[in-house]
Amino acid sequence: MSATRKAFVIGHPIAHSRSPLIHGTWLKAYGIDGSYEAIDVAPGELPEFVAALRAGAFAGGNVTIPHKEAVFALCDDVDPLARRIGAVNTLVANDGRVWGTNTDYLGFLGNLDQEASGWDDGLDEAIVIGAGGAARAILVALAERGVNHIAVLNRTADKAAALAREMGPQFSGHSLAEFAALAPRAGLLVNTSSIGMHGTRFDDLPLAGLPKTALVTDIVYTPLLTPLLAEAREAGLRSVDGLGMLLHQAVPGFEAWFGRRPEVTPMLRAAVEATLEPSSEH
Ligand code: NAP
Repeated sequence: MSATRKAFVIGHPIAHSRSPLIHGTWLKAYGIDGSYEAIDVAPGELPEFVAALRAGAFAGGNVTIPHKEAVFALCDDVDPLARRIGAVNTLVANDGRVWGTNTDYLGFLGNLDQEASGWDDGLDEAIVIGAGGAARAILVALAERGVNHIAVLNRTADKAAALAREMGPQFSGHSLAEFAALAPRAGLLVNTSSIGMHGTRFDDLPLAGLPKTALVTDIVYTPLLTPLLAEAREAGLRSVDGLGMLLHQAVPGFEAWFGRRPEVTPMLRAAVEATLEPSSEH
């Protein structure tokens, strides 16, 4: 690669994003002549930004809230995975075309594969809390790994039911109140709702009802040890935090823009962890 390769993360707001730290750490570690910057793009400016990307201003970049769905229609091609998930978080520009994909899916799987190897062996039933954008990527990932039944629980139960219907026959939709009845059969519990951010907690989620072998994971990583993960540890259950998902979802984009597949190392994790709020008191 000759000229400096440029990449970005766009969102509105965007100042909080850890992506520049992640990609900046990799660029430095691999001695790559490239840049990665956070750019605040308001919703009305999105078409113009994508046009500049198409014209060659950047190699590509990440897309975050509130653009993940809107950018879908502005791409020239969207891969089948992002189409099924219904959201794009990674853009690649090539020969005057913009291609979109979704790497949250790989981020979720990469994190569990690294932190809880074998987590999906014989996994029959899983509970996923939340029915938003992140939930969609995770439901597709769990189906892909062959989980037989996936229960989607959400504060707004109608949304869980609609999402389950859309995803297929191995999904079912429920209210949060149904957790206790579903828990005894679940080998995996995933929180994809924003509960847990800044220490917020579920009113009533009796983790003691899960099998003793169950794995609990939270994709919220601010704080790193959410109240849900703290309770899982207290109940003697295995747990995986959400920071690894953020790190792993960054891998495919970096490879596409800068030509090298980067590694998620303990050093990278420590650099990002140092920027997170301290764990919640429990
Ligand atoms: P979203 O589309 O806005 O969905 C939010 C979800 O949280 C909905 O299911 C919503 O339920 C639920 N929720 C919000 N407030 C709630 C409350 N007070 N009580 C119960 N449920 C509540 O957001 P998203 O994009 O899916 O992201 C969700 C979380 O995942 C965020 O915290 C985000 O930072 C995190 N995330 C992490 C990663 C990672 O790499 N680790 C990646 C993506 C997202 P209703 O339908 O009832 O409103």
